[in-house]
Amino acid sequence: MPQEYDVIVIGAGTGGYVAAIRAAQLGLKTAVVEKQKALGGTCLLWGCIPTKALLEHAHALKVVQHAKEWGVTIGDAAVAIDMNQVQTRKDRIVTGLTKGVEFLFKKNKIDWIKGTARLTGHGGVDVFEGDTQTLRARTEIIVATGSTPRGVPGVEIDRKRIITSDEAIQLRGVPGTLAIMGSGAVGVEFASIYNRFGSDVTILELLPRLVPVEDEAVSAELEKSFRKQGITSHTSAKVTRATVSGDGVDIDVQLGDGSTKTIRADYLLVATGRGPVTAGLNADGVGLQMEKGYIKVDAEYKTNVPGISAIGDVITLGGPGHPQLAHVSSAEGIITAERIAGQESRPLNYDHVPGCTYCDPEIGSVGLTEAEAKKRGYDVRVGTFPFGVLGRAKMAGETEGFVKIVAGKQYDELLGVHMIGLRSTELVAEATVALRLESTVEELIRTIHAHPTMSEAIGEAAHAVHGAAIHL
Ligand SMILES: Cc1cc2nc3c(=O)[nH]c(=O)nc-3n(C[C@H](O)[C@H](O)[C@H](O)COP(=O)(O)OP(=O)(O)OC[C@H]3O[C@@H](n4cnc5c(N)ncnc54)[C@H](O)[C@@H]3O)c2cc1C
Repeated sequence: MPQEYDVIVIGAGTGGYVAAIRAAQLGLKTAVVEKQKALGGTCLLWGCIPTKALLEHAHALKVVQHAKEWGVTIGDAAVAIDMNQVQTRKDRIVTGLTKGVEFLFKKNKIDWIKGTARLTGHGGVDVFEGDTQTLRARTEIIVATGSTPRGVPGVEIDRKRIITSDEAIQLRGVPGTLAIMGSGAVGVEFASIYNRFGSDVTILELLPRLVPVEDEAVSAELEKSFRKQGITSHTSAKVTRATVSGDGVDIDVQLGDGSTKTIRADYLLVATGRGPVTAGLNADGVGLQMEKGYIKVDAEYKTNVPGISAIGDVITLGGPGHPQLAHVSSAEGIITAERIAGQESRPLNYDHVPGCTYCDPEIGSVGLTEAEAKKRGYDVRVGTFPFGVLGRAKMAGETEGFVKIVAGKQYDELLGVHMIGLRSTELVAEATVALRLESTVEELIRTIHAHPTMSEAIGEAAHAVHGAAIHL
């Protein structure tokens, strides 16, 4: 006899585990099948948490390197990073958080079924780990199997010298030279980490600018800052081949001007995106509609097969790319669990998803870029305010960057907010709420921003949209 549940979730990443907790809160008997030895998926084990832990180490090193400026005496000893301690601390944080999810499962009476799940049709799920277990979902199966690093033609990932983020978070030594393919969030975060740790970092980006999904002004500011920090960036640069030889990699690159170059690095980090995980799931066997390997869902995360939903990195809603972000997968998980429990569900507005990139200087953005707003036909007004003018930024010694607001001229409505610089990944929360509440620029101007804070730049950028920044 199969073990029966109301809901079976496959995958315990930020999509799956959050969906399970919400389903259990709403009274549904819930199980989660997870093949890893720990809960939390990419975000906790290989993604958000370990990378941001490493970035905090890089930040600590930066502060110590500038000790003199802070009036802190550390003597003449050379400042260095101890990678063993870095890894130990990072692993402790990861373990603490995965154990936290285990605790939440127990608290909510969610069963963790250990092993690899295979869909068998009509609510059935077989789980393989040693013996096969047979489960049945009375109401719904939620597929949340996530994503995995993806290579590109001509570049074979060997996980030793040509590595992915999975290996880059675990390096036991600081590479002398590191080449990074791709300048999305993952690429530029590792550039910041290893540049600060002491590596000679080169970024190779196929598109004409760094962080290509961000507003162009943000890309330009990051490029300027990276140059100052000694990070080399080649944009419009195509890696045609990478060959491991000895203790390094030879990387053939076609540059924007048509010339070619071979770069030698200790490691090549491939950060060109992630692909869906459906291997062994039997998606075809149960008739799931797929698009480019992703599971196709509607705005309520229902697949074409009744009784099977899918959320997170593994899905496509059709059309332009679905954001592969932890908070998106969790939001989708909550909506799906509530719908299954019979609650009214409202579709997510993907224009209101905040994006945070924790490189140095960090980036926070939400809504339309200036170029996107123009493309959608808005008569656009923008206002920009530099962080460098703020007292708080001067005190912190972090004066790079700005807040840029994109607004519609006709109704004064907020369309997008883009920022780069200190605390941008926190400040973007205000902009996200403002967008969700359909704020006008005038309402942002009338919102009182505490002094001295970095958030004053948001109020000032709003003033700037109306041509009247106070402190410029
Ligand atoms: C280096 C890096 C940094 C990142 N930083 C951020 C960040 O700062 N902020 C942010 O929002 N996002 C970040 N992300 C993205 C974020 O990690 C993902 O968007 C998020 O984890 C997706 O969640 P998910 O639940 O869809 O899938 P996943 O987290 O990938 O979880 C899927 C789970 O399913 C399990 N699984 C797969 N197939 C089966 C099967 N057949 N049976 C049983 N179990 C199975 C897997 O083992 C895995 O645990 C980062 C990603 C990377 C790689």
